[in-house]
Amino acid sequence: MKFALVEGIRQEATTGIRGICPGCGSPTLAKCGLKRLHHWAHVSTSVCDRWWEPETEWHRAWKNLFPTEWQEIHHRATDGEVHIADVMTASGTVLEFQHSAISPQERGSREAFYDPMIWIVDGNRLKRDLSSFRDALIDAPSVETEARAWLLSDRACAIIERWRGGHRPVFLDFGDSDFFLSWLPSTGVLWRLRFTPMGRVIVTPVHRLSVVDHLLSGAPISGFRRPIVKQARSRPRF
Ligand SMILES: [Zn+2]
Repeated sequence: MKFALVEGIRQEATTGIRGICPGCGSPTLAKCGLKRLHHWAHVSTSVCDRWWEPETEWHRAWKNLFPTEWQEIHHRATDGEVHIADVMTASGTVLEFQHSAISPQERGSREAFYDPMIWIVDGNRLKRDLSSFRDALIDAPSVETEARAWLLSDRACAIIERWRGGHRPVFLDFGDSDFFLSWLPSTGVLWRLRFTPMGRVIVTPVHRLSVVDHLLSGAPISGFRRPIVKQARSRPRF
């Protein structure tokens, strides 16, 4: 966890201090080694939220785009179980930054618990996901929504197939990977997946910053338009 209570105040971990878990009230110890990000760990139990995953730099970078008071928000279910949302926005939308593998069952229970919520998924956990996702786009028909997008089978590649069947918006984060499209920048892009009931998914690249602004202030999420090129006929479609 990034935060614990020290004398009643939410604080980040610094060497040698003890705190209290805001979720379960157990003592926590600041872990400030070199290998992992500075964090708080429970002294005697494992973390109280069974959904919690060890934080990566990727998690922290995402969390830090939002105000600290929105980060690590504890919820207690009616059965007493504690869950820590990575971020909860002012309007009550929960953001889950998902790096580790997650089963469809676990995903379903989180979607039922947090409503509304969105998933932001680390697309770079498995090396082969990027290349198979890129390959799937090459053969896919484009759909002219308000922005440049493609229509794919929801089994078109592994990372899409793993997220099919969910009921919340999913954004894939491939970092600064190049997709070799002249109109698409190699930085600042997220890939929105919108699953349709017919076993398809609409895949839309969007400006990462517009997603963050959307969550911060409700600004619209913006995608990309295909550039108007004079010799469009002689150019490949992709
Ligand atoms: Zn706890």
